[in-house]
Amino acid sequence: MNDLGLLDERKKFIREKKDGSCRGEMKCDANSVSGAVSQRACVYCGARVVLNPITDAFHIVHGPIGCASYTWDIRGSLSSGKDIYRNSFSTDLKEQDVIFGGEKKLEAAINEIVDHYHPKLIFVYATCIVGVIGDDVEAVCHRMSKLHNIRVIPVKSPGFSGNKAVGYKMACNAIMELIMPHKQVKKRYGVNILGDFNLAGELWIVKDYLRRMGIPVIASLTGDADYESLIEAPAAKLNIVQCAGSSTFLAKRMEEEMGIPYIKVSFYGIEDTVNSLLRVAEALDNKTARAIAEEFCSAEVNKLEEEMAEYRRSLEGKKAAIYVGGGFKAISLIRQFHSLGMEVTVVGTQTGKQEDYELIENLVNQETVIFDDANPAELEKFMREKGADILVGGVKERPLAYKLGIAFCDHNHERKHPLCGFDGVLNFTREIHHSMNHPVWNSIRFVS
Ligand code: SF4
Repeated sequence: MNDLGLLDERKKFIREKKDGSCRGEMKCDANSVSGAVSQRACVYCGARVVLNPITDAFHIVHGPIGCASYTWDIRGSLSSGKDIYRNSFSTDLKEQDVIFGGEKKLEAAINEIVDHYHPKLIFVYATCIVGVIGDDVEAVCHRMSKLHNIRVIPVKSPGFSGNKAVGYKMACNAIMELIMPHKQVKKRYGVNILGDFNLAGELWIVKDYLRRMGIPVIASLTGDADYESLIEAPAAKLNIVQCAGSSTFLAKRMEEEMGIPYIKVSFYGIEDTVNSLLRVAEALDNKTARAIAEEFCSAEVNKLEEEMAEYRRSLEGKKAAIYVGGGFKAISLIRQFHSLGMEVTVVGTQTGKQEDYELIENLVNQETVIFDDANPAELEKFMREKGADILVGGVKERPLAYKLGIAFCDHNHERKHPLCGFDGVLNFTREIHHSMNHPVWNSIRFVS
């Protein structure tokens, strides 16, 4: 690996598989290196990722208006009914508020929302400047909850207080604060789905599979969720965790404090979808559900194989780069590319954990570069060196790929078609095929 251009402090976050291993532990789950211009978002954005999909919640961003630009419009989680979550509310803190404090403005914002909309649930996000000036957001939320007899929950998310993964934790704590008073709700048969944000309706695909297996979904956290369904979450027998990076902390707290066990799943790719459905049935000790899942999975896989054969011919032998949010998605994507006869030569995540990277190391071929919390310069360097034909990433990676003349597939929050379950496998394969084999690549020239 040519290390020209890498910051010394970043080298610990990057490994190349050689002679069967990456030799030595890779640094991850840490704050970004100063000056490295990480692709990763801030603590507040991490919290918003998890909480924003709650469809009837009011999200007040206590801070300058710029922080509030992170809205539904760049997330796209779908709702089956309510849509208040598509609005963004901000206290729009200015210089005067920084000098004299913003608590009064926050109280006024909450009062205004209560007067106009009669909400049941408000989240208040503390941003960087609130962390600096020291507004007591918790005390304001507590006071306003009592005054209006509704839930007003603080989210401790100043952007500088860690990294995006810390924001996930803060959101999980806020959810626990919401559901803990309902801990004693009567248990019933069914599961909660954690870490699915119903992007392009993906949650509905998973729910349909579970419905066919006779397994009710009690609450989804947080895709297509609302206040009434969330407070039922403590009734579930099992938590199934799709986005492990964002929601394992919540699953662990629910296990410890409510006695609900959890399993990690992934509904991306054929192999992971089938395995996950069978594991859910096993975790519930439901042999009938398992038999149903086996039957319909087998039918779906057979149907898919025919349609996939043609795409596979055009994709075999090509090279892919992956840079996504969490480890679970990267792992599923590696398996998906392998099933298409493609090689993964570069793979990284924003918030992967040590165990994710160990599994990734086992799955990839020799000379694959694995990195955590990358920046654009590193992505460019390794995609060029490894000759990637396509990059799978999010909105921030798209222009980089196109500038380098590399095909791109959006696997993040802005996508408009589902990529999970069996339908998602076909959508994903089609997109990979169309992006890589588009005639535009023959008509443009790139300057290196
Ligand atoms: S880093 Fe701070 S100021 Fe920037 S968006 Fe995040 S919370 Fe707002």
